[in-house]
Amino acid sequence: MPSQPLIRAENLTKTYRIGSVDFPALNGVNLEIEAGEFTSIVGPSGSGKSTLLNLLGALDRPTSGRVFIEGSNLFRRNENQLAEFRNRKLGFIFQAHNLLMRTSVLANVALPAVILGEGGARRTKRARELLASVGLGDKTTRKPTELSGGEQQRVAVARALMNEPLIVLGDEPTGNLDSKTGAEIVALLRRINKERGTVFILVTHNPEVANETERVIHLRDGRISKVERIPG
Ligand code: ADP
Repeated sequence: MPSQPLIRAENLTKTYRIGSVDFPALNGVNLEIEAGEFTSIVGPSGSGKSTLLNLLGALDRPTSGRVFIEGSNLFRRNENQLAEFRNRKLGFIFQAHNLLMRTSVLANVALPAVILGEGGARRTKRARELLASVGLGDKTTRKPTELSGGEQQRVAVARALMNEPLIVLGDEPTGNLDSKTGAEIVALLRRINKERGTVFILVTHNPEVANETERVIHLRDGRISKVERIPG
């Protein structure tokens, strides 16, 4: 029997209701993502990219359809179980990185482990190691306001990796950066994907970012219109 994919989305739909009007944002998405994959989701504005990413990241529930992660039915969980699942298994990198600006870089990176209740010495050690691996080993005591945009996004990458997630979801992770800095961040994510096997799913409107991934999922009107393999 073939092994199960890491993620399987079955016939996902999402309809937003505003007043008495329904807006279909996803219209039946079927998708499998294997362990170790480095994938992007592209498509015009309004095509459903963020909606799909939010469902895969358990930040929202579908109107219908199911998501299995490691064979387990994601939305069978209640809200508390989903929150715990997100914190243990998933990492998030957003365009606006949501760092705590008045808190040290080290404390920002360690925060997901604080939420897990992990001991201070262990989490500080790992946060330091992660900051070193993203090239910020000498900036651990700085505040995010004292860093460049690219450095701040590196902090967000380190924070996303803090609880050793299976899957990291990025919504326009290079959206606020100039193209050279954006390319450096994508190269960093690729390196982490290769070294650790962490799965990355990146929503982007930037073809240069999509071209650096292994597989590009094109969305149009809430459906997958094309899946492209990028020759590596
Ligand atoms: P993309 O990320 O590709 O730009 P989105 O997933 O953000 O697309 O949005 C898909 C569609 O769903 C759009 O028409 C958008 O206006 C609508 N939409 C997204 N979020 C909401 C919401 N919270 N309430 C109502 N409509 C929404």
